[in-house]
Amino acid sequence: MMDEIKAGQREWKPGRVFLIGKNYREHVSELGDPPSEGPVVFMKPASSLMPPGAVVRMPSHGAVLHHEVEVVALIGREGRAISESVAESHVFAYALGVDLTLRDVQGRLKKQGLPWEPSKAFDESAPLGPFTTAAGIAAAGIPFHCSVNGQVRQRGHTRDMIYPLGRIIRELSKVWMLRPGDLIFTGTPAGVGPLSPGDTLRVESPVLKAASWRFEGPIEC
Ligand code: ZN
Repeated sequence: MMDEIKAGQREWKPGRVFLIGKNYREHVSELGDPPSEGPVVFMKPASSLMPPGAVVRMPSHGAVLHHEVEVVALIGREGRAISESVAESHVFAYALGVDLTLRDVQGRLKKQGLPWEPSKAFDESAPLGPFTTAAGIAAAGIPFHCSVNGQVRQRGHTRDMIYPLGRIIRELSKVWMLRPGDLIFTGTPAGVGPLSPGDTLRVESPVLKAASWRFEGPIEC
C-alpha cells in the first residue's frame, strides 16, 4: 500500500505522521474549544495512510465519522531545531490529505481527559492525495477545499493558519529530528461534517493535485 504513494518521480517510505489540531480559528470555534497556546500536536501511525482513489472502510467503533481536509507537507531534508526562516526549505512536496475523525468517540475521550488515538489514529484514518513538488509553492499560498458527493463542505487557505508551517516545523523539530519521509498534516478549516457509506469525498486545490475516496461501511465481524 505505502509503496503506491509516490512523491514526484521519487519513491518514498512514509516516516512519522504528525498532525496539528486547532489551527484555523473558525474550526476551533465550531468545536467549541478554547484556543491553544502553541500548536496542538498528535500522531497517526503510517499504516493509517490511504492512497488516492482507495475505498475507505468506515470504522465500526464509533458513529460519527467526520472529514477534515488538510494541507500536508512532506519533509525532504533532515533537521533538528529548525528555525522558522529556513523551515520551508525542508519541505520536499505538498499534498491534500484528510484527518478522518470519529467525533463522538473524540468527544467522550476529551471529556474524560484521555488520549484521543481511538478517535483519530485508527486504520484507514489518513487518506493522502498525490504530491506536488514544493518548488514554487509558498506554504502560506495554498487555497483548498473538499466536497462530498459534489457539494462543497470545507474551504480554506493556508494564509489563515493560526500557526504557520514555519512555526509548526520549528516546534516539531525541537521534539523530533525531522527526517525525509515525515509528513505534517497542518490542520483543518471550518465546515467539518459527517460521512456516510456510499459517499465520495474529493479534495482539490488550484495549486495541488486533487484526489477522491469512496466510503464503505465496515466489514462485519
Ligand atoms: Zn485535523
